[in-house]
Amino acid sequence: MTTGLTHDGITEGLRGLGLKQGDTVLLHSSLASLGHVAGGAETVVDAFLSVLGAEGTLAVPTFGALGIITDVVKRRADAVRSVHPKASVAALGHHAEMLCHDHWKAELAHGPETPYTRIAELDGYVCLLGVDQDRNTTLHTVEELARLPYLKTTNPVTFATPEGDVTKSWPFFPGPHRDFIGLDRLLAEKGALTTGRVGNAAVRLMSVRRLLEVAGQAAREDPAFALCDNPSCMDCLKQRAAIRRHRFAQEAFSLSVASSLAGRYAEEIAAACQLAGIGAVELDALNGRPVSMLGMQTVERAVALLREEGIELSGLRLPCVPKDLARVIELADRLQIDRLLLPLSVNAPVHAGACEDAELAVSFYNAFVDCDTASTIMQAVHDRGLPAGLTFSPAAFARAGEKPFLTSYRRKLRHHIDQLEIEDATFDGTPQVLARGNGEIKELMSVLRCRRFAGWFVLGAGNRAVGSLEDAVGRLETLLNEI
Ligand SMILES: [Zn+2]
Repeated sequence: MTTGLTHDGITEGLRGLGLKQGDTVLLHSSLASLGHVAGGAETVVDAFLSVLGAEGTLAVPTFGALGIITDVVKRRADAVRSVHPKASVAALGHHAEMLCHDHWKAELAHGPETPYTRIAELDGYVCLLGVDQDRNTTLHTVEELARLPYLKTTNPVTFATPEGDVTKSWPFFPGPHRDFIGLDRLLAEKGALTTGRVGNAAVRLMSVRRLLEVAGQAAREDPAFALCDNPSCMDCLKQRAAIRRHRFAQEAFSLSVASSLAGRYAEEIAAACQLAGIGAVELDALNGRPVSMLGMQTVERAVALLREEGIELSGLRLPCVPKDLARVIELADRLQIDRLLLPLSVNAPVHAGACEDAELAVSFYNAFVDCDTASTIMQAVHDRGLPAGLTFSPAAFARAGEKPFLTSYRRKLRHHIDQLEIEDATFDGTPQVLARGNGEIKELMSVLRCRRFAGWFVLGAGNRAVGSLEDAVGRLETLLNEI
């Protein structure tokens, strides 16, 4: 006959993990995981209280899916509750009031002046009794303290407090999926995790100070440290995109992508940009055709959709200058796109004049010219007092047999550039992934960064053969981190 787990069996297990009189513990638990317990959840709570003693404190989170042990703590006559609609705890014992007071006043739900960080001040522990790191609320504290870019502000909530009704929202509040389970290994490697057994349950005990140190360090090194790498997890893909968007926002330049690299149709282009963390598109093609081949309404609908999805239009790019440039200028005007990208040719001064008359900005990209010719033409444009920029294509200069950074940029064109095409090619014209060709793209990006270049960096304007948008943007991010 089995009587199941007893009070003494539990206290022995907890002491074996290192818990002692005077300790403070935040407990996440599953009663069922212990196997049969004589006296049930009441016995578990009593066992914790006798190990922690009169000077000790037992706390439990009281939001989300509550277990029976949590319920018992909450219902004890001497339980103290923290007031919080999103992250409340209940506590029993010596420091219960210290942990719980004014929780709702803190800026962050799990940050400073909340029970989750006050436990660290008391040098307390998180105990996971028969549950895994997925339930470890203190990992939210790590995310919030690091103010990770994927965290969102909650909707405002109105709730009762000892000082009357309050309406409040919480910034940097944790979102949907994260891979907290994967952090077990990191914590164990850093000696921040003690494991043991109580009854049938696997138990994990962590010093909150060490937990915040170790996981905090991981968050500083990689803001995606808690995200999963499952390519089918839309939550984590979106959270990674938010990290990347935030990272690009630190730069002086603005990042855009050729619509042809992002996708064929407006919906597809918008979705790809959102997942890549890019907020602007250079419209060069739609529905598999150059924009000049499409009806006005088709283009208008696509542009409206992109804007509804929060995507800015950095320019309208034409593969050649049509006989009827006026029609294109009218299209840009209808679409409220204020910048045209045209190939650089000897007629550039005329084209720049037409754009100037229509109050439309223009940038000329080098396609089939060397840097001497490009410089002469740009000079002729400026001699007429016309404000036009140069979209510098390192791949095209490499194809022209020049060293794009050492020759084309440094000797001739540095003063004209208002856009850099983030693409690469070898001297024989073969498109290459970034910084694997002769485009000297890394040098160009670095020098423009040094001068706090505030123009556009555009991915995929010419080379569409080299992988997907995801490949290109990942490669760009890697290069920026290396420079
Ligand atoms: Zn995920």
